[in-house]
Amino acid sequence: MNDTILETSELKKSFGALVANDGISLSVEAGEVHAIIGPNGSGKSTFFNTITGFYKPDSGSVRFDGEEITGWRSDRIARRGLGRTFQIASPFEDLTVRENLLGVYTEGLGSGIRISKEKRKRADEILELLEIPHIADHEASDISGGQQQLLELGRILMLEPECILLDEPTAGVNPALQNRILKHLRTINEQGTTFVLIEHDMSVISNIADRVTVFDQGQIVTQGSFEEVTADHRVREAYLGQ
Ligand code: ADP
Ligand code: MG
Repeated sequence: MNDTILETSELKKSFGALVANDGISLSVEAGEVHAIIGPNGSGKSTFFNTITGFYKPDSGSVRFDGEEITGWRSDRIARRGLGRTFQIASPFEDLTVRENLLGVYTEGLGSGIRISKEKRKRADEILELLEIPHIADHEASDISGGQQQLLELGRILMLEPECILLDEPTAGVNPALQNRILKHLRTINEQGTTFVLIEHDMSVISNIADRVTVFDQGQIVTQGSFEEVTADHRVREAYLGQ
């Protein structure tokens, strides 16, 4: 059994009368690819936001890598090694792809900011890893939606996280680029990074997820391997039309 790297306990978050996360207790093992599925509005993105300090939980706790991080600010959580992407990629549009990678340290690249040789080298390595060195000097506003997803992943990788939360990384990406994103995720996972991903596409999940957790109405309804959760009649009805 692997160590637990991320663990939430009875996490709750409401917006007015709407209970978006209704006591979520989830454990993620170090080294796994853990998928979260569930209908629109079931609280998946809220869960990521509450874990990573973008929302404050009403109650419950979050532990990461042996330390309680509940209520920490988002930038501190990111520096601690828990990275995340957003459902909508939001690069600095007037910067190039390479500058976007370098700018993660400084929230942009104002004049007078010095970037170390080491960070430039890391940016080059990530461009190679994601197979996008040819667009390094393109402005982020000029690249495709799929390339923006790759850039979003690259920006997170600059911070060398132990665990990455991905919110629908393949949504709106063409199938060829989708396969490349999956290939890169697998490579980075094999190098030791843990992933939790929110994903709608069942073929992506069957392809990459070690375990799957199913959300519905702010709660976990079932959890297991892809085969196990898709054997559950509630999941079959909701996702497979059976
Ligand atoms: P999912 O990602 O599973 O589609 P979300 O976590 O985005 O679901 O949303 C869960 C519920 O919480 C939805 O009903 C949504 O409208 C609501 N919600 C999410 N964020 C906010 C917010 N900032 N303010 C008010 N309601 C929100
Ligand atoms: Mg969402």
